Formats: sequence, C-alpha cells, structure tokens
Amino acid sequence: MYWAMRIRGGSAVRITDVEVEKVFIPAPDPPFLWRSGLPGSLPDGYGAVLRVRTDDGCDGVALAPRHGSSALLPDIVDRVLRPWLIGADPLQREWLWHQIWEVDRVEEIPLYLLGTLDTALWDLAGRAVGQPTWQLLGGFRTEIPAYASTTTFSSVAEFLDVADQCLELGYPALKLHAFGDARRDAELCAAVREHVGSEVPLMYDGSAAFDLPDAVFLGHALSDAGYLWYEEPIREFSVTSYKWLAERVRVPLLVGETSDGAHMNTADFIASGCATFVRTSAELRGGFTGAMRTAHLADSFRLRAEPHGPTVTSRQLCMAISNCTYYESLVTSNPVRREWGVDASGIVHAPRAPGIGLQPGPDYPSFLEPFVVDPNS
Ligand SMILES: [Mg+2]
Repeated sequence: MYWAMRIRGGSAVRITDVEVEKVFIPAPDPPFLWRSGLPGSLPDGYGAVLRVRTDDGCDGVALAPRHGSSALLPDIVDRVLRPWLIGADPLQREWLWHQIWEVDRVEEIPLYLLGTLDTALWDLAGRAVGQPTWQLLGGFRTEIPAYASTTTFSSVAEFLDVADQCLELGYPALKLHAFGDARRDAELCAAVREHVGSEVPLMYDGSAAFDLPDAVFLGHALSDAGYLWYEEPIREFSVTSYKWLAERVRVPLLVGETSDGAHMNTADFIASGCATFVRTSAELRGGFTGAMRTAHLADSFRLRAEPHGPTVTSRQLCMAISNCTYYESLVTSNPVRREWGVDASGIVHAPRAPGIGLQPGPDYPSFLEPFVVDPNS
C-alpha cells in the first residue's frame, strides 16, 4: 500500500514504549438489567488501560473497560502492535489509523479495541499542547444537553416513576431501553409519552431485539407516540433490512452503533436511505479518527451523528461534532442518580483538562491516578 512507504513521521517525537495495565472494573451498585435475552450488568471483572509513551516525556492513555480487554489487549500489543509502534511518530495519527486497519485484516481485532490506540494518541496530542482533545478535533460547542438513557426497569409503573425522577433531576429528554418484547415495549412507549406529555423528547433503543415484522410493529407505535428516534431495533448486519424498515415506518431511524467498518459501514446505511441519525463513538468507530470521519460523513448528507454512551470520550466528541444533539447519560438505578458531570439543568459542560483522561470509577494502579478525570471538575 502507498502509505507503507511512510514509516517515519514528520515530527521529532517518537514512541518509546506501549504498555498495557490490567484494571479492576467493579460491578455496578446496584446491578441492573437490559432487555430480555441479554445479560444485565456485569459482575466484578478486569479491563485494561493502554499507555503510549514518547521520548519527549509526553504520554497518552485509553481505557478499554470491557471484560476480556485485560487478556486481549496485552496479546495484540505484545505480538503485533509494539514492534512497529516503537520509533513511530505519535502525531501521525492518520497513518497509524490506517495501519490498524491493515492489522485488523489479519487479526480481526474486536471492534471495541480497534480504536484504543487512536484514542490514546488523541489523549497524548492534547496533553502535548495542554488542550482538551475536543479543541484539537475542532471545537464546536462548550455545553450540550444530556438525555437520560434508562436501563430496563421492572414494569411500566417503575419506568414512569424513573421518568419523573429523571425530569426532576434536570434531564430534558429520555431514552428507553425497554423489555425487548415488541408489544410490551409499544405499550410502555405509549404510556411514557402519555405520562410526560408531548413536549419532552423521547427516544427508544431496541438493542437489536427484533426481526423485521416486530420492528415494523413497534415502529408504528413509536411514530404514533411522536418519538424522536428509533434506535437499533435489528442487528446491524443487514443494511437491506434497515432499508425495508425505513420504507415501512415513519419514525426516524438511528443506525450504525455496533456494526463493523466504521465510516465505511455507516456510508452504506446512509446510501440505502434508511438513516436519519447515525451513531458514532470512539469505542466502536475506530477511535476519535473514525468517530469524526463518521460524523463528517453524516454531516455531508445533513444527517445527525449522535455520540454513544456515557464515557469521557463521548464528552469530548459532543463538544467537537457540529451535527449532534445530546450526550447519552445512563440511568441505571431507582432511586435515580444523576451521572457525574451532568448539572441540575441536565447540561454537560466541556472538559477543561488537557487530553481525554481516564473514566473515573475503576481502581487504577497508582501511577495512572494523575490521568483520571476529576468528576467534580
Ligand atoms: Mg444504543
């Protein structure tokens, strides 16, 4: 490939080490559920942190919190990544990102690890110039509203109670992860709309529970109830099934959260005509480089690209992407607790610390503590 000609970068900085640290990821307290058929919150387990160090003393980190990362990330770093990363220019992110796709062609890197190196490099770049990463990406805004994204509660009555609490805590919009039964979910979505009134933006996330007939049934119910978007009702493998769904329902679809291929896959969803919103994330779209490509791709068609998940990377993306609406804030307990960094008006403010930092919560080794985002800042 043409880029294989350019192994050495243009800056004077070089990567001197690439390390992986195992980190303990505690189980959520209290535990919570997802839809029928999916496991709920995970027990105690181990994720990993990738750390890239350079010869000018600057470094960058990225958290891979999913269980299994503690085994898979050291393996891929030791066998494949470290040998060609040592001596590379850490500021040549675009070239390194293309190299990761070449590695992926052989290794089939798990989607949730594909962007870990790129994320650490964007953290490093921010630290190197003393700016938060969203500014380097091209800052667009300094605050954004958060929607309360529920986990699955036990009954319609409990969902209505949780909805009331979310609105009282300042969240201006709600998204439901519901039961995973099309008819029960249709009843729930109508009940929540009836309960909160017509002014509160509502969204629904199917977490890929359905086939096309059930997805069409539920889509009609969401249209009737005036939902803003209908997210991932079907596994995102068949773009055609989403095209057919969009031809059969009026509610706008949000697509492309979990499918492989970053912007290349999102492009096919868009070309099919099914997408009104697309998902983007550093975690599942190949780091910040893939996430921003996906957002710019959507923008060129005047679609919105909504950042996925309650993460420090999502906070950065929300401030850098022009065509997004909300930060996704997960609500997992009843009584409801407002997530750190969401204020009493339901607003998330732009991070100010250099780089990205590490998500607060896990029990990091002491040398990583300076990287952890202060939840009170
Ligand atoms: Mg989702």
